[in-house]
Amino acid sequence: MSDIKLKPCPFCGGESVVHVEDGVRVICEKCGAMTKCLVDGYAQGRPTGGAIESVVKAWNKREGQECN
Ligand SMILES: [Zn+2]
Repeated sequence: MSDIKLKPCPFCGGESVVHVEDGVRVICEKCGAMTKCLVDGYAQGRPTGGAIESVVKAWNKREGQECN
C-alpha cells in the first residue's frame, strides 16, 4: 500500500478528500476547489493505473501558486 499524502486546500486551508466517481479527483470539502478528473484502467474490478497518485500530485502542486 502506498501512503498518499494529501495537503490541505491551497486556497482556503480546508480539508481535502479524494473523491471517486467515474474517475478520481481531489476536492476541497470547504470551498469546492477540485482537480481534473482522471480515470484509471480497470482489470478484474480493480484500478490498475496511478490516477489517484496523479490527482494528488496535481493537487499538492497548487500550494504556493495562488497569486502571480
Ligand atoms: Zn478550499
